Amino acid sequence: MVIVAYIVPKLADYSAAALDAAVSQLLAALKEEVDHAWSSGTAWKAFRDRWIGRKGGLLTQVNDLWLKAAPKDAKREVGRRVNEIRMEVEHAVGKTEGLYLESETATQAPGSIESVDITLPGIRRAIGAEHPVMRTSREMVAVFQKLGYSVADGPVIETDYYNFEALNFPPNHPARDTQDTLFIAGQQAKPLRERLLLRTHTSPVQIRTMENMRPPIRIVIPGTVHRNDPPDASHSPMFHQIEGLAVDTNITFGDLKGTLDHAMKEFFGSSVKTSFRPSFFPFTEPSAEMFVSCFICGGSGRRGSGPCRPCKQTGWIEILGCGMVDPNVFEFVKDNGYDPKKVSGFAFGMGADRIALLKYGVEDLQLFFQGDVRFLQQFS
Ligand SMILES: [Zn+2]
Repeated sequence: MVIVAYIVPKLADYSAAALDAAVSQLLAALKEEVDHAWSSGTAWKAFRDRWIGRKGGLLTQVNDLWLKAAPKDAKREVGRRVNEIRMEVEHAVGKTEGLYLESETATQAPGSIESVDITLPGIRRAIGAEHPVMRTSREMVAVFQKLGYSVADGPVIETDYYNFEALNFPPNHPARDTQDTLFIAGQQAKPLRERLLLRTHTSPVQIRTMENMRPPIRIVIPGTVHRNDPPDASHSPMFHQIEGLAVDTNITFGDLKGTLDHAMKEFFGSSVKTSFRPSFFPFTEPSAEMFVSCFICGGSGRRGSGPCRPCKQTGWIEILGCGMVDPNVFEFVKDNGYDPKKVSGFAFGMGADRIALLKYGVEDLQLFFQGDVRFLQQFS
């Protein structure tokens, strides 16, 4: 059978019937060509370029010959159909690419089974390696699991209530500003506490867990968080936190210090020292930043004859924020056994990406997220 290649026609008129006919003719041609597109790399690339090539691709032609040429009153309807066609075509290109790649990795094209030599060794796929940020996170979580902490999880899309309000952020706190937080669009009609956002920290999981579990609890929470930060060497709109919470009767700041000091020695090596300096967070009181003695220069601030950059020559590296859970936070979950007069607790949070940067001596945070196999292979 001879297949005559489909050509995008000019439209004689823009009636619904004429559009229907033109669209179904185009989709029929697409369907026919899909069947052959994945047979080889050349065929797939030719298919892709023919349909979505920027210069002279069929989609571009549809745009020029149908949409751009349409009279004003028909533009809206033609635009809708052109969008539908675009989705169908892009879907077909993606699907055929997948089929082609599959056929490349299989020993035989699907359907032909005459000569399978079952004694040949199979095709081994590269297993890959754990991503350095995931590995760091898992190792840190494991330190706390050994202390009896369990892993908790929660949604990445959160409400203002869990992300801010229940964590004692006052209504006008600047962290709610869209300059800092990525909100889901179109929610102006909702009350503030119900508005959805990408969580800016893993702390909402603390509230969610306390709503579901009565004290005592000890949890560690790894997860992705988002902030409205443009990407640079030390910032990313998406990054990873590890957070912890312990609540029981008679938990003191001494427990916090002992737990975190032990955890840092487990993670970085028994020779690191820890140091706590006063800080502020809305959900803890008192709050502190914890530093560990620089595990790169051993706390001397110098590397050979030069300065130690990771600790800025101070001999100390800031690793996490922590503090005793603010009684105002317990008020939100008081009914589940968290009476601030009876229980106390501590919380801490750290950035897995930052710790991975320090641990592996990586200079640019973006390298973690670019998916360049040459970079990631160094950690396998
Ligand atoms: Zn140092």
